[in-house]
Amino acid sequence: MKKYIMALDQGTTSSRCIIFDKGGNIISVVQREFPQIFPREGWVEHDPMIIWSTQIAACTEALLKIGGSWDEIYGIGITNQRETVVVWDRESGVPIYNAIVWQCRRTADRCQELSEMGLAKTIKQKTGLLLDPYFSASKAEWILNNVEGARERAERGELCFGTIDTWLIYNLTGGKVHATDYSNASRTMLFNINTLEWDDELLGIFNIPKSMLPEVLPSSHIFGYTDKGLLGAEIAIGGVAGDQQAALFGQCCYNEGELKNTYGTGAFLLMNIGDKPKINDSGLITTIAWGLDGKVTYAFEGSVFVCGAAIQWLRDGMRVIESAADSEYYASKVKDSGGVIVVPAFQGLGAPYWDPYARGMIIGLTRATSKYHIIRATIESMAYQTADVIDLMEKNASIKVSELAVDGGASANNLLLSFQADILGIPILRPECIETTALGAAYLAGLATGAYSSLDEVKKNRSIEKKVLPERDTEWRNEKLTLWRRAVERCLNWK
Ligand code: ADP
Repeated sequence: MKKYIMALDQGTTSSRCIIFDKGGNIISVVQREFPQIFPREGWVEHDPMIIWSTQIAACTEALLKIGGSWDEIYGIGITNQRETVVVWDRESGVPIYNAIVWQCRRTADRCQELSEMGLAKTIKQKTGLLLDPYFSASKAEWILNNVEGARERAERGELCFGTIDTWLIYNLTGGKVHATDYSNASRTMLFNINTLEWDDELLGIFNIPKSMLPEVLPSSHIFGYTDKGLLGAEIAIGGVAGDQQAALFGQCCYNEGELKNTYGTGAFLLMNIGDKPKINDSGLITTIAWGLDGKVTYAFEGSVFVCGAAIQWLRDGMRVIESAADSEYYASKVKDSGGVIVVPAFQGLGAPYWDPYARGMIIGLTRATSKYHIIRATIESMAYQTADVIDLMEKNASIKVSELAVDGGASANNLLLSFQADILGIPILRPECIETTALGAAYLAGLATGAYSSLDEVKKNRSIEKKVLPERDTEWRNEKLTLWRRAVERCLNWK
């Protein structure tokens, strides 16, 4: 009877449901967008009830679309926008404030204050994270300090804290289960990734009562069952992971040293670093990739602020292309970038440069430069930035990477993938199913609910649509990387 696994992909702009068969093929997809709330400049919120209603609507619709029945579903996997915080009343399930979204900068001053108190190091050592408003802790603290009566209620044990996975689990189980998984817990800045416990010192720093926190469980685990009154069936919730970690799982990066890059608006690189956190001062985040079979796997995470966004800039700002896909066509009109380097440091630079004052730059122009060279150089910038992050990861993990799995919108660009292979000197693999985030959640759920008996069985599903091999030698690579790094130096500290 059981054939499918249902993945709930609760993202920043939409709630989606994807139903997969056991082979990892997409059977049904439904997407519901929801409003973004910007109460002030730099503040971003979502309505938690709308997150929930769009998500549950997507689930029922996805099943309806294929005329399926709940009996055919092995279980539900959840993957979610990370770090976003909801606080709600334990009894009524009513949120006391909107969800504060990961992008929200309202606690920047508070994080600055903590940094001035010298707490960045402790936080890094315990959580693997950089002291930044991005993560959940300062957002939860803000809610408790700013919603009338919240702190007293929290101290009386009346409130629940959760990231979006926790909020969905609570609602799916009719309020019975208050839990999260290791990967999401590791983004809160309250969870000690060495001891695998909520950390009393961090809870003290952020003034968060422990009674609010969810139970932390493995990512592949039966968290509970859907409330019968909700769907008319009790379906196991068997997998939970934050979106980037789920993508790593969906890309089958199960061994130390395996990594994936998601080329989206920005780029997200995650590398499996095995069972030790390897916390370091390089600016790379250490995070929990997943908990599975009684153990936890860690990952390095590095991001590039402007990746596919540079292609959007060519389209909307420079107006030299009409669509993102055109970039490949124009770039292929020239054999190389003609010595042009584009550094898209529109919002400063992240790893390994860490310079908020860096600004974008086009350098190496000559009378022979055409717009095709600039378009090509912009595509190449995505590969260079990726190479910089991978280089940092290799050094800090003492691991040599042997291939790169890719996904995200810009991974459709074959010229990018060829250049990436050349600049890294390793094969680039693009999977058949680029919905790796949802697929990862489905795999985690499938492992807990008997759809798969082992990771090896899951891995058999892996189907590579395109494998791009490097065609250049080390000398070429070093020359190119040297030129890129010389260009980056010239755009730093532009204030
Ligand atoms: P996000 O999830 O961050 O919104 P997506 O994974 O949907 O991003 O990818 C969208 C990004 O990919 C956009 O920034 C777009 O410019 C870029 N993109 C899409 N198709 C191409 C392409 N063929 N070549 C280069 N960039 C592309």
